[in-house]
Amino acid sequence: MNFMRFMNIILLFVVVLLIPSQAFTEEIKTRYTTIIYNSTDQLDNFNDNIITGGLSYFFQRQDSVTVKDEIVSKVDGLVEHVESILEMYPSMMHFRIVLLDDDNEVRAVYRRQYNKSVNYIAFYSPQEKTVYISVDDVELRVLAHEIAHVVIDHYFGVAPPVKIHEVLAQYVEKHLED
Ligand SMILES: [Zn+2]
Repeated sequence: MNFMRFMNIILLFVVVLLIPSQAFTEEIKTRYTTIIYNSTDQLDNFNDNIITGGLSYFFQRQDSVTVKDEIVSKVDGLVEHVESILEMYPSMMHFRIVLLDDDNEVRAVYRRQYNKSVNYIAFYSPQEKTVYISVDDVELRVLAHEIAHVVIDHYFGVAPPVKIHEVLAQYVEKHLED
């Protein structure tokens, strides 16, 4: 087998491997985010597990007809709510939310990026401006915590120490329903 032929076969394999994962990736654009998901199950779980409860008045919009509409309304509403709790309103904030099936997937992504084992159900990567979150474990509180990290990251020109980041994100969780 000559070299070119060998390379062609390798290329073919690469293409075959890439197609399926690309084909199932879809996204929803909201005012502040791009939500990336790979199944309608993920979307449904995400929507069902984010219960706005006592905060419903804050999120309900009349045009929320489909699951996608509901998610857009919840996510953008939560971003604005978190901003108001922190009294931080960064301009030009846009980030990604990648929906993952469960905590195992979250841990696998974290391990790949940071080469460290953790037991997280969600995390924010400041380098990628991306929240990775398990739709199995998500709750309003969990999403608000991660969005707080995003807002803090975008607000400060120089990143505050990790401890400050964490204290502020926990403050948001605590005062979510005030
Ligand atoms: Zn945190």
